[in-house]
Amino acid sequence: MRKRIIAGNWKMYKLSNQAADFAEQIKERITTSDKVEAVICPPALYVTDLLQRFETSAVKVGAQTMHDTDEGAFTGEISPAMLADLGVQYVILGHSERRQYFNETDETVNKKVVAAHKHHLVPIVCVGETLEQREAKETVSIVSAQVEKAFADVTAEQAKKSVIAYEPIWAIGTGKTATAEDANEVCGAIRHKIETIYSKEVADAIRIQYGGSVKPENIAELLSKDHIDGALVGGASLDPEAFVQLVEAGT
Ligand code: PGA
Repeated sequence: MRKRIIAGNWKMYKLSNQAADFAEQIKERITTSDKVEAVICPPALYVTDLLQRFETSAVKVGAQTMHDTDEGAFTGEISPAMLADLGVQYVILGHSERRQYFNETDETVNKKVVAAHKHHLVPIVCVGETLEQREAKETVSIVSAQVEKAFADVTAEQAKKSVIAYEPIWAIGTGKTATAEDANEVCGAIRHKIETIYSKEVADAIRIQYGGSVKPENIAELLSKDHIDGALVGGASLDPEAFVQLVEAGT
């Protein structure tokens, strides 16, 4: 039985007092459960504050990106060693916005996935197709290739602990969600790809989230599908009430 994972991706939203308010509102309401885990990925500046606020809560803290080396002359970057040192447990890697606006490629995403595991951070590896690719019926081949490249040089034990987020680009921030059936089909294809790279054991263990306009109104149907183990949520995760409801839907 895979533990579900609901992760909030705040992107570049909230000022410090808003981040603190959010944490104070949800920290007691989200309780430990063996069915679901809850992660908030705030802008990096708020990571330390949220780690402290969530110290006695079941909510975990993740980063939205990171560099692939431990240290160096890389102005503006944050290293996996720094995240691990603070107690961060998750890191979103290869989000489509990073690929689109910050030149991330399958190769750089792969380096980051390897680096995350080196520091025992759980990578949330994002993959997904554009609308044109979906219309050309290329979804499964595109997403499978992204998965294969992201997991190059990742061991089976590391792969088992990883999370993959299937996020169709046309569904992000648009209010358009893939139907639960379509999302499940692609998540199933991703699981199959993992089985061909590793084994059935790894495929059965790895958690696959759906992301793209997930909200309290549509999460139950998505989670009812056998290959969908959680959600990566942007817009709706900014609202404390909605985030609590999203996590509760996973229990
Ligand atoms: P959205 O974003 O929920 O606002 O569509 C999802 C994401 O980008 O991870």
